Amino acid sequence: MKQGITNVYIATTPRYSALTIESLKTPNCSINKIHEKNYEISLDSPLIMAPDAINVFDGLVNTAVVTEKNEKAIIKVSLEYPCAYQLKVERNLPERLIIFFDRSVLTILLKDKVIVIDPGHGGKDFGRRGHINLLEKNVVMDVANYLKEELNLYGARAVMTRERDICLNTKDRINTALLLEAEMYISLHTNWDRNKKIHGAKGTYYEGQGKILCESILRELEKKPGIKNLGANQAEKVFEKIQSRHISKMPIVTIEVCTISNPVEEGWLRSPVFKKRLANAIKNGISNYFFLKKRY
Ligand SMILES: [Zn+2]
Repeated sequence: MKQGITNVYIATTPRYSALTIESLKTPNCSINKIHEKNYEISLDSPLIMAPDAINVFDGLVNTAVVTEKNEKAIIKVSLEYPCAYQLKVERNLPERLIIFFDRSVLTILLKDKVIVIDPGHGGKDFGRRGHINLLEKNVVMDVANYLKEELNLYGARAVMTRERDICLNTKDRINTALLLEAEMYISLHTNWDRNKKIHGAKGTYYEGQGKILCESILRELEKKPGIKNLGANQAEKVFEKIQSRHISKMPIVTIEVCTISNPVEEGWLRSPVFKKRLANAIKNGISNYFFLKKRY
């Protein structure tokens, strides 16, 4: 039987992004650092599987491209942040070569960060309604729950303005963030347009650091799950009635995660997997914001 690589995949846990290379007999492997965020893994075996380009975007590993040259497999890995890695061989059937990329950078960025997530609307305020009758208040609640869960896996202290189907005013929502002196306030909504063809995600920010956060989240939504970036705009309205020194320091953003009036995106919103992907992208945008902020 021809020897070679049968399968390549990535599994993510809060601690590691594990790149697994399966074969019947473990090949010799050399891992070359091309750049601080790019590795090239050369294997002395051909591919039995088809070449592949895996869009991972798990916050650390962006992509893994599996190709073959002169009967030898090559895997190019591109990372979001430089990190350490460990190599392990599992002698089993199939044999596995696993490269554990260390995700502690994400915990360093997110640990103890108080992040207020506001699922828009609620109670008698449904928000927008899609063509197959999905309600904005419910889909943003699902995304908010996934986002909170995801952030807290990395040691953040994510708090929601509402945990139940209730209607709150803007002042109560923002007060949650002010009382906790939160690092940021993210309100989740869906976009809506009379034109069914319009699709994508939009952001609004209230001055200052909000712009960086908003753009960072929209960028991640575009990478995966591939939501078109309709742009970030500064809000016209300011919170002039709310007197607080903290409000000027804290980024306040509204993210319309996708467009509920577009039948394709509304259809996607029925899927828990899709809503988890939205939450994962927002989390990546948040960690990126903290990374960029350290540099500014
Ligand atoms: Zn809304």
